[in-house]
Amino acid sequence: EPTASGATIQRSNQLSYARQETKHYKCKKHIIIFFKGVILANQDFLGSTNKLFDKALGFTEISEDLATRIRVCNSTYTINFGVKLRDQIHTFTGWRSVHSEHFEPAKGGIRYDIDASQEEVEALAALMTYKCAIIEVPYGGSKGALKINPKDWTKPEIEKITRRFAQELIKRDLIHPAQNVPAPDVGTGADEMAWIADEYRRIYPTDINALACVTGKPTQKGGLVGRSEATGRGVQYIIRAFFQHEEDYIKAGFKGGLKDKKIAVQGLGNVGYHAAKFLQEEDECRIICVMEHNGAILNPDGLDIEALKKYQLEHGTFEGCEQGKFEKNSSEFLSIDCDILIPAAKENVIDESNAAAIQAKLIVEAANGPITFAADEILNERNIMIIPDIMANAGGVAVSYFEWIRNLRHIRFGRLEKRRNAYQFDTLISAIETMTGKEMPEKFKEQFIEGANEIDLIRSGLDDMMSEAYQKVRKSLIENNIPNLRTAAYKVALDRIAISYDSIGL
Ligand code: NAD
Repeated sequence: EPTASGATIQRSNQLSYARQETKHYKCKKHIIIFFKGVILANQDFLGSTNKLFDKALGFTEISEDLATRIRVCNSTYTINFGVKLRDQIHTFTGWRSVHSEHFEPAKGGIRYDIDASQEEVEALAALMTYKCAIIEVPYGGSKGALKINPKDWTKPEIEKITRRFAQELIKRDLIHPAQNVPAPDVGTGADEMAWIADEYRRIYPTDINALACVTGKPTQKGGLVGRSEATGRGVQYIIRAFFQHEEDYIKAGFKGGLKDKKIAVQGLGNVGYHAAKFLQEEDECRIICVMEHNGAILNPDGLDIEALKKYQLEHGTFEGCEQGKFEKNSSEFLSIDCDILIPAAKENVIDESNAAAIQAKLIVEAANGPITFAADEILNERNIMIIPDIMANAGGVAVSYFEWIRNLRHIRFGRLEKRRNAYQFDTLISAIETMTGKEMPEKFKEQFIEGANEIDLIRSGLDDMMSEAYQKVRKSLIENNIPNLRTAAYKVALDRIAISYDSIGL
């Protein structure tokens, strides 16, 4: 005898699922419950993002109707497609979400992750909208995902799957240089982007701007030197910007600058590896803990990140690495005693269950959405400073923007002016030497005449965008008496988006 069915949302291990058609049957003494449900993975992520949005709204003059227009995702395309592999047709599910089109193209990465879901993609697309607004790149927000564990497939198989997925998106203009430009994210990299670009070129062989349909490509395929390091590099630059403001680091409980700070990093993938490497090598920080999905490695004197990455690539784990102590239960170390915590893996890793235990003075969200809304409230109350994802990891889209422009201009940055600048510097040096009667030291001469390479220009542009973003958000925090950087960052983003919606008359 079935009882009434419910449509409640339940939460378990960071996954949400909606109950559908729950049926209770009485059978003598026992009640048997048949449960049919759909997994709504990370539904909390979208909820958290919207709550953070609403919190910042109170500091703006934006009307509720415009706010709704900005908050909701414009469209999400779901696709199920088949690929014949290993003598069998395998059906894959993917999404491409366009959160906003107040600027086009819409921009955002594509991730390959078995836990991906529509809600997650929509939350990530929303973050892209806010991120692009903060660093002032003329893009709407988008994101895509394929529900797949890349480790289950060989490289040629991933290529075949990627090409099929790309075809489906391209024919709907969900990959297009003027409308929607993907980039790498979790589980994807330069190879996937190269296959996507190649598929686009096959479908539109006469489009002279075909290469601009995707960013994060390999350098020999229209990619930009510095794109793969960009997000991690941006994390380094925003941390530097924070430590350039004495008032801010003192408020967070630090006594001095960045040198020798103890850092814990979660995720030694693209973003985590580059951020940790640069902070260790260039800012002399001590990376005391690195957490991965299959274990953590700890060393209070600091780890050599380059050597650790090499070990991880060879062995697939930190286990057995002599650099430090290996611990199996990696997520426990999010609460390790450190100065700076950099979650650079996945969303929702800091929630109500562990927020109270966090010991870091500063959390830098290199990953998207690593802190849930509830955890954010706890951390704010504990005065733990957070540099939010929509600022901290914007370096990826900043350099993607440079790559897209370079593909549209068809000429590398600095090409026209490099020689001219060299002649000018040469003349200047000769003039100084003639006037002073002294020779300029060879070291400085070479640096002047050599001029800036493309990578120097990219890093300089990125540094400028990250530090300007930090300063603008900080200014908004002070001027509007906003309690934390995240709310201030959302306010800066929302105000900018509202202006552009207003100006297009919506
Ligand atoms: P990646 O796939 O290169 O790296 C992710 C790493 O995290 C992997 O090494 C993985 O093993 C590890 N990981 C997964 N689950 C973990 C867990 N539970 N505990 C510890 N480690 C775990 O991905 P990525 O490109 O470095 O992206 C990481 C985060 O940064 C994501 O949130 C992504 O959305 C965000 N992000 C990436 C970029 C980019 O340019 N790649 C840009 C902006 C934001």
